[in-house]
Amino acid sequence: MTALLDKKIRQDFSILEQIINDEPLAYLDNAATTQKPKQVLEVLNNYYEKDNANVHRGVHTLAERATAAYEASREKARAFINAKSTKEVLFTRGTTTGLNWVTHFADEVLEEDDEVIISIMEHHSNVVPWQEVCRKNGAHLVYVYLKDGALDMTDLRSKLSSKTKFVSIAHVSNVLGCVNPVKEIAELAHEVGAYMVVDGAQSAPHMTIDVQELDCDFFTLSGHKMLGPTGIGVLYGREEILNQMSPVEFGGEMIDFVHEQKSTWTDLPWKFEAGTPNIAGAIALGAAIDYLTELGMDKVQAHEHELVSYVLPKLQAIDGLTVYGPQEVSKHTGVIAFNLDGLHPHDVATALDYEGVAVRAGHHCAQPLISHLGIHSAARASFYIYNTKEDCDKLVEAIIKTKEFFNGTL
Ligand code: PMP
Repeated sequence: MTALLDKKIRQDFSILEQIINDEPLAYLDNAATTQKPKQVLEVLNNYYEKDNANVHRGVHTLAERATAAYEASREKARAFINAKSTKEVLFTRGTTTGLNWVTHFADEVLEEDDEVIISIMEHHSNVVPWQEVCRKNGAHLVYVYLKDGALDMTDLRSKLSSKTKFVSIAHVSNVLGCVNPVKEIAELAHEVGAYMVVDGAQSAPHMTIDVQELDCDFFTLSGHKMLGPTGIGVLYGREEILNQMSPVEFGGEMIDFVHEQKSTWTDLPWKFEAGTPNIAGAIALGAAIDYLTELGMDKVQAHEHELVSYVLPKLQAIDGLTVYGPQEVSKHTGVIAFNLDGLHPHDVATALDYEGVAVRAGHHCAQPLISHLGIHSAARASFYIYNTKEDCDKLVEAIIKTKEFFNGTL
């Protein structure tokens, strides 16, 4: 048992105590969304029961409490990613919103024949906004492909040039489970004068993030993938860039002064937060950050590594099972996509659900990658802090049972 589970953290997640189809639940769909500990749910509830008020407006006690808690969460998020200042920490709805805001900035910067480099493993939220902004500006979207199930750095180097204006790469792939060397890529991007954008949706929940050390210009994360509620996330942007960047949404809260015909904007970070924000979500994200920080992100990472070291070889040993991404345990995070020969991943996921094992099946919002791999879809098991070796065993046993069942009927 790892240091994490010694702390009996499973007791904080009552949702995991359920029996699903007569089996104890093994929740292995954490790359889609994670469960929330009681500490986060209590903070969410407490806010609505005791402190509910709008932020930054009122002078009454509840408004002051709500504002203080909301801004305290911003400070927690700043510390979590080690941004220099809370001015660089914008609350968003999640990674998708964050990346759309970045492409809004790109819309102001891109010119005809400029290039944007992304990789073939990107989630649709790091593909489609770039397609749109490139199409509008006559810029080109350039893809970096794979080598040995991970990013081909030689391909990336060969595609960087003075035409490159943005490089936007997932820190961890939500299908291949590989970690991309975003610090090295940021250095290369900056050498050609490009901005570096990191999609941290699958990294921030699982490892220590230091945006200053990574030296990226933008970094996005989603609260719901790291024990927080849905509808809240963070976009980090370097202060000098956010100062140049126009707001994406306009309305209340984000103004300094509104005249009849024009307006001026307030300071960072509020310039980007038009309207009433997701106050409860931001405060609960702060509680999720507290929870993870107390566990220690190094322990979170070590725990997942222990699970992957245990389960990956067992999966690789199943005849007819293909694991995507790097095959070495040292290079694979707790996102494991796989297929079983001759079986549709939806059938696999349904059969696993009969055994109480929750995995995802489909294209995982990464259709360019799925096409590149020459498949239609894949099943995916993804692990988090509360998963155990018993969950791993259940997964492996359920896959073997599924295989035997379908082989008997094929
Ligand atoms: N990028 C990656 C790598 C993801 O895994 C996800 C979520 N599956 C997203 C972006 C989008 O995150 P959200 O839906 O929370 O905006």
